[in-house]
Amino acid sequence: MNKTPKQCWMCDNAATTSEHVNKKTDVKKMFGSGTFKNVVKHDYDNGTKKKIQGSDSQLLKYSKNLCATCNNHRTQPYDFAYTQFEAYVRNNFDELKKSLFINTNNIFGKRAAKKQRCNLFLYFVKAFGCQLHDRGLPVPQVLREAVLGKNYGNTFRISICLDQMKMQFIQNFPLEGDQINGQPEDFFWAQDNGFFAVAYAYNRSIPAKFGEEWHGKTPQFKLGMWPITRTFWPDSTLLTK
Ligand SMILES: [Zn+2]
Repeated sequence: MNKTPKQCWMCDNAATTSEHVNKKTDVKKMFGSGTFKNVVKHDYDNGTKKKIQGSDSQLLKYSKNLCATCNNHRTQPYDFAYTQFEAYVRNNFDELKKSLFINTNNIFGKRAAKKQRCNLFLYFVKAFGCQLHDRGLPVPQVLREAVLGKNYGNTFRISICLDQMKMQFIQNFPLEGDQINGQPEDFFWAQDNGFFAVAYAYNRSIPAKFGEEWHGKTPQFKLGMWPITRTFWPDSTLLTK
C-alpha cells in the first residue's frame, strides 16, 4: 500500500517530523554549524538553484514523513551507528583507499559489532525508505518490517564506494527503478557525503565497482572506488559552497 505523505512510513501513525535527506552530521561536517554563508543546493532534476541558510533548512529535509517516536526514539540507535561509521571512514580515509576493505569490528569493537552492524544497516534502510516515500512510492513491506526489528532477508543491499579524493560537495543521485505491469519492481539510488557514496539497491544487484554488496550481517566487506571525478551527475542534487 502506498502511504499518504501524512503517515509515518514505518508505523502508520501521523507523520509529524521531517528527516534530513542527507544526514545532518554529514551536512555540518561539510559546511559547518551556524548560518551558512554561500551554500547552494543545485537541483538538476528541475533546474533550480537555492541558497541554504543552515543545516536545519527545510530545503535539506523531506516533507513530514515520520512520527516523532520512529524518527527520534526507534531509529536513534541506527543514526548513532551511522555517525560512528562515517567518522571512522573520514578518519581513516587514506588507509581505506589503499586497502579498499572495511572491518566493522574495528569501528564498533568486537563485542558490540554484531548489534551495531545491524543498526548501521537499518540506518541505510531508513535513508532509503525515506527517499522512496518522498517520491510517492510504496516502501516495500520487508523494509518497513526491518526498521521495526524483524528479519529482513536479502532483497535490499548497500555498498560503500570511496570518492577518489575528499570532495567539497554533497550529492544525491537520481532514484532509478524498473516497473513490471506498472508496478515498481526494483530500485537503485546513491548519495555521496564528500568522502564516500552509499549505493542502495532493492531487488537489483549493485555493480562490483561500487563495492561489495552488504546486508549488515558480515563483519567485513570490500569498498568500491567511485570511478569518476566529475562534479555532478545529470539530474542529481548537489550541495556546494
Ligand atoms: Zn512512526
